Amino acid sequence: MALRLIFLGPPGAGKGTQAKRLAAARSIPHVSTGDILRAEVGAGSELGAKAKEYMGRGELVPDDLVVAMVARRLAQPDCGNGYLLDGFPRTMGQATALEARLAEHGETIGQVLYFSAPDDVLIKRLSGRRVCPDCNANYHLETMPPRNDGVCDKCGGKLIQREDDMPETVRNRLKVYRAQTRELIGHYGATGSAQAGLLTEIDSTGTVGEIADAVARSLEN
Ligand code: AMP
Repeated sequence: MALRLIFLGPPGAGKGTQAKRLAAARSIPHVSTGDILRAEVGAGSELGAKAKEYMGRGELVPDDLVVAMVARRLAQPDCGNGYLLDGFPRTMGQATALEARLAEHGETIGQVLYFSAPDDVLIKRLSGRRVCPDCNANYHLETMPPRNDGVCDKCGGKLIQREDDMPETVRNRLKVYRAQTRELIGHYGATGSAQAGLLTEIDSTGTVGEIADAVARSLEN
């Protein structure tokens, strides 16, 4: 059966790291809207040019652009057997658009994992994060350093700090999360709607291994 999952939570909760591991283990595509948007910016596409300003400020890219981008990605053949959505939906408008698409195809979401952690943990994770712009691998200066300083273990790329991981932008991203994304927890967790009861909260304060164990347990249930 096709496995369709959503990873929800504030920036810095570890969604991306866990999503990469789980998607590889289950052989489903990891669909990260942040990664796709960064690739569009890097390629200098029309979408990238439109998205760039919002991303630089730590704001959300408008729903119509993101929804159309995700629709194109989910229509690719590799998503036929399921997918892991990381960082999408991020607004009620995006959730509604996704639900309309699923209904059209007679499909459902299997589970929504909500990665939760207090702000001080999120800020520490984001400020120490380093990423590989070539293969999207994530590192952390203290908790998950690369074998060689500044060099990606996986592809040898030169690690960078994301511009939106700078303190000022991080504060705005957390504000935007609380204002626009947090309500999705109620949407997927509450009773009474078609999407209700899909949500499992994952305590994301621990190590990468501890969080991965919690993810595995929640999928067994
Ligand atoms: P992320 O890598 O998930 O932290 O995303 C980086 C940035 O890309 C966000 O701060 C937004 O500007 C943009 N972005 C990623 N996903 C979405 C989305 N679902 N809706 C709107 N903007 C998004």
